[in-house]
Amino acid sequence: MQLKKKRVLLLHTGGTFGMHVDAGTNQVQPSNAGYLGGLLQKVPELADIANLDLQILCNLDSSDMRAVIWRTLAETIVSRWDSFDGFVVVHGTDTMAYTASALSFFMENVTKPIVLTGSQRPLSVLRSDARANIIDAVELATLGIPEIMICFDSKVHRGTRVTKYSSEHMQAFRGYNAPPLGSFGVHFRVNKRSLRRKAQISTLAKPCLDCRANDNIIAIDCVPGMNLSPTVINAIVSSVRGIVIRGFGSGNLPIESSSWISLCENAFKNKIPVVMATQCSAGMVSLNAYENGRAFVERGVISGNDMSFESLTVKLMVMLGRQISFDTRHEFFAKPLSDECIHQDDDI
Ligand code: ASP
Repeated sequence: MQLKKKRVLLLHTGGTFGMHVDAGTNQVQPSNAGYLGGLLQKVPELADIANLDLQILCNLDSSDMRAVIWRTLAETIVSRWDSFDGFVVVHGTDTMAYTASALSFFMENVTKPIVLTGSQRPLSVLRSDARANIIDAVELATLGIPEIMICFDSKVHRGTRVTKYSSEHMQAFRGYNAPPLGSFGVHFRVNKRSLRRKAQISTLAKPCLDCRANDNIIAIDCVPGMNLSPTVINAIVSSVRGIVIRGFGSGNLPIESSSWISLCENAFKNKIPVVMATQCSAGMVSLNAYENGRAFVERGVISGNDMSFESLTVKLMVMLGRQISFDTRHEFFAKPLSDECIHQDDDI
């Protein structure tokens, strides 16, 4: 008996996947919508895996992604929820991890797979990773895993626990303080212990949506010797609603010169939340470990905990969008919304 094929909606948002490389300049150029319409002709195997439908939401370089488009994407998925068993979002790699976090925070009780993918090389060129990525992503979307995931170069990551780490390798993504959820080899292997337990709700139930997010934030990297002038501090505090600082190691900043302290004090006075992230590509922020971190705990700075930079910045946008009171900002950040951080009493 032939099993009924699953229905998968492919939502195109842009990125390298659907572009072509201009032979003369080697520049990546956007292709026209007709090319996307021909996806099934280019990768006919997709039709064997699932009954596919295609919706072109936008055709952006993912550097232009922002909260309002995340919202449209989430609303589109929910509005078409009943008609599909899974969803694949084709997205540029540059900000894919931010979009995956945003969808994870916006959508509660996800009972079907939502898979983001893209490629380092366009589908239309030789030696492209696009073909394998889209085949894996569509297959993953038929497997019933109730998660928002990034599927890339045969690895599957939780949407809130992944970061882009290479602009060159086909393995563009890796987990951030978390192992992959699964991988495609000869077989698809799932890391069962990492998967969420299936929700005790019917797959007919739509996810609850809360797409409020305010992206009026700034992220600042500190480098040795860097000081912020009073003019810069005033400009920051008077123009943004939230601040992320990427400190050294476990979240340390200079204290012998007072400008970072001054920024945090000014922000505190104006009830602007400041979140400390780390420049390290693994590990967690532990502000109490050193004097140069404790000075910022005393100024009300929130710990980014073990969150990826992408997840932490989007969580700040969500906190602002939901108008969480300034006094409860630490609690909001410490509590996982979508497995983006450890529970405070768990071991890492
Ligand atoms: N600049 C492209 C984007 O993120 C890169 C890619 O898709 O790999 O849209």
